[in-house]
Amino acid sequence: MQKFTFFNPTQIVFGKGQMQELDALVPKNARVLITYGGGSAKRSGVLDAVKKELMQSNRTVFEFGGIEANPKFPTLMKAVELARMEDVDFLLAVGGGSVMDGTKFIAIAIHAEQFMGKEEELLHFGFSTVPVENVVPLGTVVTLPATGSEMNNGGVISNGTDKLTIFHRDAFPVFSILDPELTYTLPKEQVGNGIVDSFVHVIEQYLTYPQNAPVQDRIAEGLLQTIIEVGPTTLANPTDYDSRESLVWSATLALNGLLSAGVVPDWTSHMIGHELTALHHIAHARSLAVLLPAVMRQRKDQKREKLLQYGERVWKICTGTEDERIELAIQKTEEFFHEVGFTTRLSDYGVSKSDIPAVLENLEKHNMTALSERGDISLDVSRAILEDSL
Ligand code: NAP
Ligand code: FE
Repeated sequence: MQKFTFFNPTQIVFGKGQMQELDALVPKNARVLITYGGGSAKRSGVLDAVKKELMQSNRTVFEFGGIEANPKFPTLMKAVELARMEDVDFLLAVGGGSVMDGTKFIAIAIHAEQFMGKEEELLHFGFSTVPVENVVPLGTVVTLPATGSEMNNGGVISNGTDKLTIFHRDAFPVFSILDPELTYTLPKEQVGNGIVDSFVHVIEQYLTYPQNAPVQDRIAEGLLQTIIEVGPTTLANPTDYDSRESLVWSATLALNGLLSAGVVPDWTSHMIGHELTALHHIAHARSLAVLLPAVMRQRKDQKREKLLQYGERVWKICTGTEDERIELAIQKTEEFFHEVGFTTRLSDYGVSKSDIPAVLENLEKHNMTALSERGDISLDVSRAILEDSL
């Protein structure tokens, strides 16, 4: 293991009816801006329930709706302007990863004095913390289990054909309410997105070279097995509470920093996937299902030991030659994606070989030219991965 610092201050408030804790969690006398997406929170009644709880004490409440999936910088800036005008001092995100990520950007931008009028620059610090002070505190009410954004300090923001990652030490939600029943209204397609995104979050922190981190490995394997088990049962039976709560909790634990403490992750599928979303509007998780099997095949040699361990411990593959076991582990992964309603071929999204150079150009523009746990996925290797995924 590498040396590490693990820091995660988010209070998780989990279970049926936990919305009733909102009044105790949000500061009294706060000027609160509730942020939400395209309307699902309104239709499902979650937004009204949130407002009702907030009104129990003396607070001034504002609303900003319309944060789109893959939240866009210009939309978020409208919320920043509203928050500045109304002197908002607490943000409450009600939604999925897009609303939570977008709200983190809003929280960072509100008092970013030295970036006034050029807030776009906040998007260009990549994996380093954005250098601003006074991040406005935020809480979340989660309606889509997928991204883990409810318990981490990162966000992914789109601006034209750029899809960029931002981080800030103070962008962890102060609290996140996770009531699995709030996710019952999700269409199957979005449940599937959550299953695959959380699965790939775990894999990308696990499937590297051996890092002498048996605790992280076994947590990862447990999460993968759980997602494989409860993903399909949740899809088949959307109101099965037991499956749903395990799926929700797995998605949170998949990306709260625990799995990557002391280990070097490989975010290749995510980084190439962001370009596919930006250029071809493929939903985040859908891009991952296409890329991960290709990454596994292209990186068979570099990831040999971990692929064998993954096959044995997660899929119980114990016989055959090493190459056969690895191939079977990759096949099982693809079959799982198919089972939850995903294609694993890029061409199914109308993307062809002639589109690959533009994806590579974007990767280069975003400095994604040395990906993987070894930093040895060059643009040529990314090309091979993309071609393999067609
Ligand atoms: P999302 O983009 O937040 O939401 C997808 C759709 O689901 C929206 O149309 C939303 O509708 C709908 N929805 C949400 N909750 C619902 C509910 N309970 N019932 C019915 N519909 C509901 O999806 P996501 O997968 O959670 O987030 C994806 C984004 O997160 C991507 O931009 C991705 O890059 C990013 N991401 C972030 C992290 C991180 O660590 N921060 C990690 C991975 C990915 P409305 O808009 O109408 O509400
Ligand atoms: Fe993701």
